Amino acid sequence: MPEALIRPELVQLGAAPADKTAAIRQAGQLLVAAGCIAPAYVQSLLAREQTANTYLGSGVAIPHGQIADRHLIERTGIAVLQVPGGVEWNAGQRATLIFAIAAQSDEHLALLRRLTRLLQDEATLQKLACTADAGDILRALELPAAPAAAADAAAQAPAADYAQGFDWRMPYPNGLHARPAQQWVETARRFAASVRVRNGQEAGDAKNLMALLQLGIAHGQTLHVSAQGDDAAAALAALQGVMNRLTAAEEAEAEKARQAKAQAASRSAWQPAGQPPSLQGISASPGLAIGTLRVRRAANIAVPDRPAPLAEGADALDEALAATRAELLQLAQDTAARIGKAEGGIFRAQAELLGDTGLIAQACQRMAQGHGAAWSWHEAVQAAAGQLASVGSPLLAARAADLRDAGLRVLRKLAPELDVPGGQEQGGENLVIAAADLTPSDTAALDLRQVAGLCTAQGGPSSHTAIIARTLGLPAVVAAGGALLDVPDGQTVVLDGDGARLYWGLDEADLQSARQWRDAQQARAREIARLALQPAATQDGVRVEVAANVNRPEQVPAALAAGAEGVGLMRTEFLYLERDSAPGEDEQCETYCGMVRELAGRPLIIRTLDIGGDKQVPYLNLPHEENPFLGIRGSRLMLRRPDLLEPQLRAIYRAAKTGPLSIMFPMITSLAELRELRAECERIRQQLNAPAVPIGIMVEVPAAAVMAGQLALHADFFSIGTNDLTQYVLAIDRQHPELAREADTLHPAVLRMIQRTVQGAQAATQAGRPCWVGVCGGLAGDPLGAAILTGLGVRELSMSQRDIAPVKAALRACDSALLAELAQLALDSADADSVRALAARLQAPRQVKR
Ligand code: PEP
Ligand code: MG
Repeated sequence: MPEALIRPELVQLGAAPADKTAAIRQAGQLLVAAGCIAPAYVQSLLAREQTANTYLGSGVAIPHGQIADRHLIERTGIAVLQVPGGVEWNAGQRATLIFAIAAQSDEHLALLRRLTRLLQDEATLQKLACTADAGDILRALELPAAPAAAADAAAQAPAADYAQGFDWRMPYPNGLHARPAQQWVETARRFAASVRVRNGQEAGDAKNLMALLQLGIAHGQTLHVSAQGDDAAAALAALQGVMNRLTAAEEAEAEKARQAKAQAASRSAWQPAGQPPSLQGISASPGLAIGTLRVRRAANIAVPDRPAPLAEGADALDEALAATRAELLQLAQDTAARIGKAEGGIFRAQAELLGDTGLIAQACQRMAQGHGAAWSWHEAVQAAAGQLASVGSPLLAARAADLRDAGLRVLRKLAPELDVPGGQEQGGENLVIAAADLTPSDTAALDLRQVAGLCTAQGGPSSHTAIIARTLGLPAVVAAGGALLDVPDGQTVVLDGDGARLYWGLDEADLQSARQWRDAQQARAREIARLALQPAATQDGVRVEVAANVNRPEQVPAALAAGAEGVGLMRTEFLYLERDSAPGEDEQCETYCGMVRELAGRPLIIRTLDIGGDKQVPYLNLPHEENPFLGIRGSRLMLRRPDLLEPQLRAIYRAAKTGPLSIMFPMITSLAELRELRAECERIRQQLNAPAVPIGIMVEVPAAAVMAGQLALHADFFSIGTNDLTQYVLAIDRQHPELAREADTLHPAVLRMIQRTVQGAQAATQAGRPCWVGVCGGLAGDPLGAAILTGLGVRELSMSQRDIAPVKAALRACDSALLAELAQLALDSADADSVRALAARLQAPRQVKR
C-alpha cells in the first residue's frame, strides 16, 4: 500500500525548540525515526538554511536538504513540527508550523502548492498552530499518497547504495547530458522501485532529471546504479539496457561533431585577398554563409514585481507550467519530425527540468514572501541556473542554458506583456544572426528562408544550439568572444563555418570570391545528396533496394529525402507504448493510412506488434516471464491474444485499400504459426473485402533460418532481424552489459544463418514459389555488413535513415563478384574480428572498380 507523505508518526505537536537549529534538528529526528532519512541528512537540512531562506510566510517554514545529499533519503516523507509559541526563523520571522521535507523526487509538489494556498488562510493556520489533534494537520493538507516507489523502499539502514546494483562506466563521449538523462529518468519511472545513481561520493535519484544532471557524469567515470523494491531487478535490467542502447546514438552524435570539425579542419577555408576585419571563434557547423549581420542584443529583462494574492499567483504559475510543458512536448514532436529525434529530445528534457521540486519551491517561497508570480519565477530560475553555471562544469553550464530557455517560456505566459526575447526575426533575408548566445528554442525556431548562418559570442561546439545548427545545415561559429556584439548591425558579412571566422567590411572582390567559394561548396553538397537519391546498384548492375526503418507518417518525408526507397520496417510497438490502453482499430488505421499516403506508392512493410522481451506494456497485464526473450513475445503473443491481433490486422487491411503495403510477422519459429497467421489474415481480408497483400515473416530465430526452405513455401518474403537473430544464435542477451561486445552481428555463425535463409528462399523461388530476402536489423545499415549481405544474395536492406547514403555509396563502389568473394571470406572466417578486418578489401583500389 502506498504511504502518505505525512503520517501521524511524522507529526509532533506542542514542541518548544530553543531556536531554529533546534527546531530543524527535532523535525529532522522525526524523519530519522520514521526511517525516511539517514541521520546525516539533518545536517543537510541545516546547511540549506545557509544558502536559502526556507520561511514561506504566515508562520510556515519548509526546511529541505541539499540536492547533493538526496542519497541520504531512504523514502519520501514530510515531518511537521508544531511550535505553538513560535520560534524565530529569521529576524522578524517566527515559525509555528515547520514542514521538514525529505523528497526523493517530485512527490511533494502537490503538498507545496497546498501549503502556499493555505498561507492565504490565516484562520486555519492559526488553528493548526495550536491544535491538539494531529489529524487536523493531516486533513488540512489533504495529503497526496506517496507513490509506490517511496512506499516500497524498505526502511533499512541508510546506505549510499541499495543492495542490488551494478557498476557502469560512462561510455557517452559527451558524458551524461539532458537528452540521454531524460531517457534514463523515463525508464526508471516505469518501475515502483527506488533507483539511485552514484558518481563517486554523490548520488542522485534516477527518477529526477535535475538530480542526475547535477552528478556531472563525465565520459569514463564509473557509476554505481542500485535499486530497492519489489521490481528492483527488472528496473535495473531495463535501465542498464537503455543506458547501453543509447551509447551508439551518443557516439554517433559525437562522431558527427568530430567529422564536422575534421571536415572543417581538412577543408581549406576560404581566404580573402584583402585584410578585412574578422573575429575567430570555434567551428560549430561547416559551410560558408554570406549575408547581412543581424545582432540580437540580449534584452535586459526587467520583470516587474506585481504582487497578487498568493492563491492567484500559485494558480497562475501552475497553469503557466502546465501550458509550457505541453508546448515543449509539442515542440519536441515537431522538432523531431522537422529536424530529428535527438533534437526533439532536447525539448522533452526541458519540459522535465520545469518539474524540478527545488525550482518550484523557490518560486513558491518568493510568492509567499509577497512577490508576484512572474517575478518570483524569474528570480527562482535565474538563481537555479546561476548555481548550475557556477560549478565550472561545461555540462552543467549547458544545462543552465536549457533551464533559462525553458524558464523564459514560462515567463512569457506569466507576463505576456513583457517583451521576452526569442522567436523569429522580424523581416529580412539571408541573415547572419549574431548573439551573445542562442537558446535551443531560438535555434529550432529559426526560419531557414530568412537565416543563412549563426555566430555566438559564447557557447560551445557541443551545445544543443550547435547540434541543431549542424542538423539544419546552417554554418555556425561559436565562442567568437564579446567583441562580436560590437560588430555593426546591418553589415554584409561572410561567416566561415569551416575556418570558424566572421569577416565584415569586405570589398567587392572578396565578396565575389566568397560567393564563388560558397557556390562550389553547395554544388558539392548537392552532388552528395543527389547520389543518396540514386538507386543502389553495384558496378555490374545488381540492384539492391534500400529502405528506411520508420515508425510514423511524419518521419517519412525526411527518410525519402535521405534516399529511402520505401519503408522496410514499420515497428508498430510505438503505437502501444507510453499510454494506458491499447490503440483502437480506427486509430491504428489512421496511422497506417498516413504511412501509405506519405509513401505515395512506394513499398511499406508493417510489422505486427512485437511486444514482450525487452518491450513491455503494463496495461496488457502480460504474465511475468522468467526469461522474457525466450517467452511469449511477438507473434507468439499475438496468436494468444486475438483482442490484439484482430484489430491490428483489420486496421492494416483497411489501410491496404488505400495503397500498397505488406504485412510482416515477427518472431516466427514454426510453420504452424505462419499458417495460422496467414489463415487469420485471409479471414479478415475477406470480411473487409480488402486486396490481398504480400505476407512475410521476420527471420530472427535460428529455427526459422534453418527451416527457411519450408517457411519460404508459405511466405512472400523474409526480412532478417539481425538484432534478435544474433542474440539467439550466440545465446547472448541483446541488452547484456558485459557481453554486448561479443554479441557481434558479423559473427560468422550469424552470417551462416543468413546464408541458410537466403538459400531456403532461393530454393522455393526456383520451385515456383517466389520469396525474396531482405534485412532490417542493424547489420543492414553497416556498409561492410550491407556489402556482405548483398554478396550473400540479400536484395533489400532497411535501416535508419542516416545510414542510407554511406550504404549506397559502399555498394555502388563494388561489383557483385567482389561482394560474393567478400561474403565467402566472411563465412569462412573464424570470428567476428576477422570478418571486420575484411573492411579493408572494400577500400582496396585493386578490387574496387571506379
Ligand atoms: C531485429 O531483431 O533485428 C529487428 C529489426 O527487430 P527489433 O530490433 O525491433 O527486435
Ligand atoms: Mg527483432
